[in-house]
Amino acid sequence: MRPFLGGRFMKSLWNGLEPKILDDKKVLDSNCNADVCIIGGGITGISTAYYLSKSGKKVVVLERDSLADKTTGNSTAKITSQHGLFYKYLLDDYGQDFAKSYYSANQEAISRIKSIIQEEKIDCDFESQDSYVFTQSSREVSNIEDEVKAVKSFGGEAEFVKSIEPNLGNVKGAIKFPNQAKFNPRKYVKGLARAIENNGSEIYENSKVVSVKNENDEYVVSTDKASVRAKYVVVATNYPIINTPRFLFH
Ligand SMILES: Cc1cc2nc3c(=O)[nH]c(=O)nc-3n(C[C@H](O)[C@H](O)[C@H](O)COP(=O)(O)OP(=O)(O)OC[C@H]3O[C@@H](n4cnc5c(N)ncnc54)[C@H](O)[C@@H]3O)c2cc1C
Repeated sequence: MRPFLGGRFMKSLWNGLEPKILDDKKVLDSNCNADVCIIGGGITGISTAYYLSKSGKKVVVLERDSLADKTTGNSTAKITSQHGLFYKYLLDDYGQDFAKSYYSANQEAISRIKSIIQEEKIDCDFESQDSYVFTQSSREVSNIEDEVKAVKSFGGEAEFVKSIEPNLGNVKGAIKFPNQAKFNPRKYVKGLARAIENNGSEIYENSKVVSVKNENDEYVVSTDKASVRAKYVVVATNYPIINTPRFLFH
């Protein structure tokens, strides 16, 4: 749900800068077949569709409303390996291999997004920037120092600093992750959507999935107008919409 402000739903800055993603909304109104049907047109569904369509799979994406209009279009738009003070917790509760894998996967994601942007020539205001978690309370400085130690313990890049950019004043301590990034997620999804269609796959909006059934080793994914038959289904709806045996929830 969007924040409700003064009688109107507030639109994010990213929506304002990129109000339209696909030129024409296509609604699924006749049955079709695909190798993979992806439910949900946020960054997760569209990124999955991008990789699969690029590898030669026929993909059909079904989006309930409009692409990148929900969480993706209203997110903070940062692409970082830094998620609060998370690594001390990962290290303590899951061990060094797990914490290192989490860090490496996130660093890899930053590089991959950067190379997709270059390869597909996506104009999405991508900028490499340092990322910080800071405190203005002397009592919390030791938490920041512990986090720096945790990240360095598995070879991650982190630094304890006493000032940040932009200078907010009164910063007592901060953990800096270098070479992180930000972008406009709607512009990025728009570029991926264009690539997916160029790869011969299809995207439908205003096409809410109402059921997923398993028939003869295939899935039948239905809206109230038509169905997609596919060998595989990816549910990328942020919140699960179905609870079918053999589906893997993360
Ligand atoms: C406030 C906030 C800020 C965030 N900021 C960041 C950030 O800066 N960086 C970061 O990496 N992560 C951030 N996140 C995490 C964020 O959840 C993910 O980065 C990402 O945007 C989620 O994308 P998604 O595609 O999984 O979900 P969504 O963008 O929500 O997409 C799911 C889509 O599924 C569709 N759908 C739902 N039900 C159906 C149905 N029955 N049929 C068809 N379609 C359906 C929806 O309409 C929607 O478009 C933030 C999260 C929040 C809540």
